[in-house]
Amino acid sequence: MAGSREAGGGGRRFGAALALVAGLLAGGLAIAARGAAASGPPPLVLISLDGFRWDFMARAPTPALDRIARAGVRSERLIPAFPTKTFPNHYTVVTGLYTEHHGVVANNIYDPVLDARFSLGDRSAVEDPRWWLGEPLWVTARRQGLVTASFFWPGSEAPIQGQHPDHWRTYDGSVPNEERVDQVLAWLDLPPAERPSFITLYFSDVDDAAHRHGPDHPAVGEAVARVDAAVGRLLAGLDRRRLWGRSHLFVISDHGSIATPPDQVIVLDDHVDLAKARVVDWSPALALWPRPEDVDEVHAALAGAHPALEIFRKHEIPERLHYRDSRRIPPLLGLVAGGWRVASRAYLELRGGRLGLGDHGFDNQLEEMGALFLGAGPGLRAGQVVPPFESVHLYGLFCHLLGIEPAPGDGSLAAVRHLLRDGSG
Ligand code: AMP
Ligand code: ZN
Ligand code: ZN
Repeated sequence: MAGSREAGGGGRRFGAALALVAGLLAGGLAIAARGAAASGPPPLVLISLDGFRWDFMARAPTPALDRIARAGVRSERLIPAFPTKTFPNHYTVVTGLYTEHHGVVANNIYDPVLDARFSLGDRSAVEDPRWWLGEPLWVTARRQGLVTASFFWPGSEAPIQGQHPDHWRTYDGSVPNEERVDQVLAWLDLPPAERPSFITLYFSDVDDAAHRHGPDHPAVGEAVARVDAAVGRLLAGLDRRRLWGRSHLFVISDHGSIATPPDQVIVLDDHVDLAKARVVDWSPALALWPRPEDVDEVHAALAGAHPALEIFRKHEIPERLHYRDSRRIPPLLGLVAGGWRVASRAYLELRGGRLGLGDHGFDNQLEEMGALFLGAGPGLRAGQVVPPFESVHLYGLFCHLLGIEPAPGDGSLAAVRHLLRDGSG
């Protein structure tokens, strides 16, 4: 501010001096950029509680989440991207892109150009950067001199644009929650120049319980209490380090959950020849890749076949889903009504008719698919509850709080400016 005012009225001599200083500084810029992390932005910790529906805080006492909500902002509901699945949504949060633009269009994907399949359980695919388009926040941050770390996040295991976070872990769901939290605290104890400014943390307890028992079962409350305890452990650690109030803390989820009663199953082979339909992803977003000559026949077989199944040709997929603009989106997409699922007869027999009692992946506007959003820290408003907003805007918000330039994307800072303390964006 002062500099620009003086330069404006200062004439040539000042300009020359400025150029000299700039020249001297230029050589040390790389070091300075890295060093900026030392005195740079308050650390930002992003916690994902997989499958934590927007209303699950009522299922158990949640002292840690309550404390964050009281100190900061809570959204009535965070609107996830379509499809409301784990990988697509985690990657939307860190890229600010709809799934059609970041390439992770489902948990199970077919790419017709690569002629390859992706699935979240396939390590070599998960670690293959060709599946992960766009720029995740850790790449944006590292490029601008910040240190980053991840105790699990979809995408962190692939060298996207040649980069992982500075610190990262191969996904292992058996690592106890306490160990994850303690590692994050240990990262925050690193010397200032090495301390990460952006850290992710992930817990799957609530999603596991909601799938197995259904979202209304007491086991979900127990899982809610467990993840709250993990967040509480982190808060206690931040308190000891005097980082509470001096860091940004976000607790979000990727989607909600809806009950899927055992009698609400669409048996696909009752309606269509599976060999022709060529299913790549089953439920609840049904991805069909028939041969071009079979598309009309498969479409005709499934259109109107079941009241809980809507079938779309790719170019007819509703615009509000932001789900057309990718070669990985199938020629035919089945949208399943909330609470229903699709399976093959063989799969049902294999499972003895027993499928999970809860699921997600449905229309992202469905209230039950709504996710959690809490955030607290010096840049955020205190004690505010805000109306629902879309998770695609979070990347820009995080970049703003970290003082870095975001990559272009589908989100907008204006959509979340009301969460900011100064409100100015
Ligand atoms: P879903 O309910 O199918 O959308 O996926 C949830 C599951 O994704 C969790 O139960 C985890 O086991 C799994 N998961 C989460 N993060 C990762 C990761 N980084 N790599 C592999 N699997 C993951
Ligand atoms: Zn999930
Ligand atoms: Zn799940």
